[in-house]
Amino acid sequence: MIHLLRIGSDVALETADELAAALARELRESCHVRPEPIDPSFAFDPVRNQYHATSILRAMTSMTEGERLLGIASVDLYVPIFTFVFGEAQVSGRCALISLTRLRQEYYGLPSDRRLTAERLLKEALHELGHTYGLRHCHDWSCPMASSTSIERMDLKNRRYCLRCHAAVRAASYS
Ligand SMILES: [Zn+2]
Ligand SMILES: [Zn+2]
Repeated sequence: MIHLLRIGSDVALETADELAAALARELRESCHVRPEPIDPSFAFDPVRNQYHATSILRAMTSMTEGERLLGIASVDLYVPIFTFVFGEAQVSGRCALISLTRLRQEYYGLPSDRRLTAERLLKEALHELGHTYGLRHCHDWSCPMASSTSIERMDLKNRRYCLRCHAAVRAASYS
C-alpha cells in the first residue's frame, strides 16, 4: 500500500490522483491519495528561499503506520550539499518526497505542458520510491533509477524500470 500526501495547498488533487493511478499500474500496488495536504512552512529556509527536504521527510516518518508514504511538494526542495533536489527518499525506509517545482516547463520560462509534467512526476516518483525498496542508482541512463541532476537527463528516461530494477522492486515488495 502506498499513500500519496500533498505538501503545500497548491498541489492539485487531480495531479495526485493521476500519479496514483500511474504508480498503481507500474508498481502493482494500491495507491491512495490522502485528502488533507500538509503545510511545509516548518522546513522553509529564508536564506535559500527553499524547503529542507530532509526535515519534511523526518516529519513524514511520524505520519505512516507501515504503508509507504510519498510526498508531492509544490515547493522547491534542497539538501545542504546541493543547490536543489528533485526529491529525496529514505533508502529501504517508508518515506519518499518529490517536488513539482522544477518539473514544470514554466520554471524554465517555457509554455505549460501538463502531459510532460505528469510524465516527469511519474519518473521522479518511481525513482524515489525505488530507493524505499532498497534500490541504488542504475547505470542504465534510460531507467527511472538512473541519477538525474538536470531536467534534460530526466527527459531521457523511460516511464518504466529497466528489467533489473523492476525485478528488484518486485522482490522487495513481496518480502
Ligand atoms: Zn536517487
Ligand atoms: Zn534500472
